[in-house]
Amino acid sequence: MAVVSVRNLHVAYGTLEVVKGVDLDVAQGEKVVIMGPSGSGKSTFLRSLIWLVKPRQGRILIDGVEVRQETLREVRKRVGFVFQHYNLFPHLKVVDNIVLPLVKVHKLPYKEAVARAREALSLVGLEDKANAYPLQLSGGQQQRVAIARALAKNPKVLMLDEPTSALDPELVEEVLQVLEDIARRGTTMLIVTHEVDFALDVADRVVFFEGGKIVEEGPVEILYNPRTERFRQFLRRLH
Ligand code: ADP
Ligand code: MG
Repeated sequence: MAVVSVRNLHVAYGTLEVVKGVDLDVAQGEKVVIMGPSGSGKSTFLRSLIWLVKPRQGRILIDGVEVRQETLREVRKRVGFVFQHYNLFPHLKVVDNIVLPLVKVHKLPYKEAVARAREALSLVGLEDKANAYPLQLSGGQQQRVAIARALAKNPKVLMLDEPTSALDPELVEEVLQVLEDIARRGTTMLIVTHEVDFALDVADRVVFFEGGKIVEEGPVEILYNPRTERFRQFLRRLH
């Protein structure tokens, strides 16, 4: 069964149509990388899957549950989301940034939440920063905390929107390394990224978005040999 299943998805801002009829399935354990030019609707697409932007039309199933107003809370509990900007609470310690949603949203007992938070921090190699404040950390470390926060809820699927594109170049690698480790553990992942080497290492499938549509998709080999001229041109410009 697909963990994420999307049919005929349409999303608009006012009169601006941004996602124009997208179908996508992500199987259990699968890693799907989404690429595409700026403004092609990648972020809108990803956000709309958990109704951070409400779609105009289409059907979304997450872990077998149809996304609707009544199921939204449950659905969001099953999705770990990592944004381009890490969105940590600056006045909370690292560990409390992770504990807070576990207690408030997931209703875990505090002690269990702390144990989960520490476990998640160890997965991203930051156990020793549990009591630091976000602004005492580098951008790469902050993004690793955001990843730990998303993982701590034991999500059915981890969605990441350009997780390294706001980072200084020298901090990108540590975050990609952490994501590779997570991928290897079998987590289902849907990732918007332009990191080709990363995609080649972890992705099972690559999806190329343009103009709010999937223009091309296939196994990672399409990165070496794209079928469409548009994807070929896009990839050429990345280098
Ligand atoms: P991408 O992530 O591929 O760069 P986005 O989904 O961010 O693309 O944006 C797709 C289009 O939607 C762009 O034209 C962008 O200007 C527009 N857009 C994005 N967010 C909003 C918003 N909150 N309100 C209005 N227009 C938006
Ligand atoms: Mg984007």
